Amino acid sequence: MLKIIKLNKINQSYRIYNNTYRTLCTTNNNNSNNNGVYDIVIVGGGLVGSAMACSLGNNNNTKHLKVALIESSPIQTVNETTSNKIPDIRTISFNHQTIDLFKSIGVWDTIESTKRVNPFNQVRVWDTSGFEGIHFKDNNDIMGYIIENKVAVSSLLEKANSFENVDIISPLTVKSLENYNPNTSTTTNILPCLKLSNDKDLHAKLIIGADGGNSIIKKQLKLNSVGRNYNQRAVVCTIKLGKSDHNDTLFQRFLTTGPIALLPLADGYANIIWSTNNLHANYLLELDDNSFLEQLKNSFLSSVPTNNNSVFDALSSVFNLNPSGLSGNEIYVPPIESIVSKRASFPLRIDHTFQYTMPRICFIGDASHIVHPMAGQGVNLGMADVKALTQMIEQSVQSGYDIGDAMMLKRFEEERKPENVKMMLSIDTLFNIFTNNSIAVTALRNFGMSFLNHVPILKNLIVGVSKGNSILNNIK
Ligand SMILES: Cc1cc2nc3c(=O)[nH]c(=O)nc-3n(C[C@H](O)[C@H](O)[C@H](O)COP(=O)(O)OP(=O)(O)OC[C@H]3O[C@@H](n4cnc5c(N)ncnc54)[C@H](O)[C@@H]3O)c2cc1C
Repeated sequence: MLKIIKLNKINQSYRIYNNTYRTLCTTNNNNSNNNGVYDIVIVGGGLVGSAMACSLGNNNNTKHLKVALIESSPIQTVNETTSNKIPDIRTISFNHQTIDLFKSIGVWDTIESTKRVNPFNQVRVWDTSGFEGIHFKDNNDIMGYIIENKVAVSSLLEKANSFENVDIISPLTVKSLENYNPNTSTTTNILPCLKLSNDKDLHAKLIIGADGGNSIIKKQLKLNSVGRNYNQRAVVCTIKLGKSDHNDTLFQRFLTTGPIALLPLADGYANIIWSTNNLHANYLLELDDNSFLEQLKNSFLSSVPTNNNSVFDALSSVFNLNPSGLSGNEIYVPPIESIVSKRASFPLRIDHTFQYTMPRICFIGDASHIVHPMAGQGVNLGMADVKALTQMIEQSVQSGYDIGDAMMLKRFEEERKPENVKMMLSIDTLFNIFTNNSIAVTALRNFGMSFLNHVPILKNLIVGVSKGNSILNNIK
């Protein structure tokens, strides 16, 4: 069992901060002998927040810091998340950098031991034209791993819970940030205060907002961001595949309505992520299983004739390119046997917050940047934030800085922002290329697809994004 809600387990070491720091909120925590003061409070125990807690618990230079993680949803144990044989509808493709982080914080063995982990070393990307598309195969290297969200989160939270310095407080919600003045210097010794849904208060030298795309703290601070709604939803479900040699392959096809992806899972299951316009998404959600299965098969298998695309034909003849003439059925996808889960959908948008940090406050993961799932990079960017923020906090500790120091936090922001922006631009560019249905762009895209498959450097641009390298990194 997880040790949940440990507000009464207030440790002696907090006294140091009580003597030093003045808090503005009155605490209602009767059991507390430290007025609910922590060094760090992480708001949100999703993938990114729970990894942050593990990272702080595991690091020799930060493991003396008292950390609280607040999560509003009830927490599931690893056993609970794997009790159903059928994989959950939410899965993530984790890249190598994230897996390395999991290994370094000691959680990878737990995740692997669930046997709900599927490595892939091939990616196939194509569209509706019948052209062969992009095929990337890395015989010597695993490109990434597909894992259910729930399995990864529960493993991370179980690991976080094993660290002496980490308290997991759940299920409780942060309602508001109180008495916070962004212009207050850290030298004034006033700590920001978080009001919880049980009306108790927590204070921290550093608040880490890992509370996802609808971050309450970000909203309250009225931080500006730039982005757009794709007017799309991702319809997701779990399917069972027939016999196939392709359990190591991630498939993605760009339809005129948006991309549809098939992510292979262990034991012959797979996850479908079908991004499409809102109207079509609602239609797909309302279909019965048999009709949805039929639509799904068609979406991967049917090919659109290219002979009425004059620009495309012109390019093909000039460059001597031949469409494969094969349907998706003949080229790619393993047989889809049945739908084995309910369907759900998620709205899709891109969003980037201008400011990741303020004195004593810092945002990581989707709380500061959201991307389209077509490249499978949202969490992976968040995990890179975790790594960078841990290093920054470690440096603050080693150099004797306050861990909420604005200048030190800014260094984290300066490290992560360019990387996040580059990846976001890369994904948005791919989205625009692949969802633009004008004849010229379609022709160029198809020309590009065929061309890309034979030119390793160009092909790597797209495959690189799947592996976690932005287009801009590849061409610098
Ligand atoms: C269909 C789909 C497929 C995707 N596939 C991939 C993929 O293959 N690879 C990839 O890298 N990314 C993928 N992503 C993106 C990925 O899901 C997100 O980037 C990731 O979930 C962000 O994690 P997070 O921890 O930052 O935020 P979240 O997952 O949103 O977690 C935030 C947590 O904070 C909690 N919380 C929120 N508010 C409060 C509060 N006030 N008090 C307490 N707790 C609070 C929530 O309960 C939640 O647990 C996909 C996204 C979608 C929609």
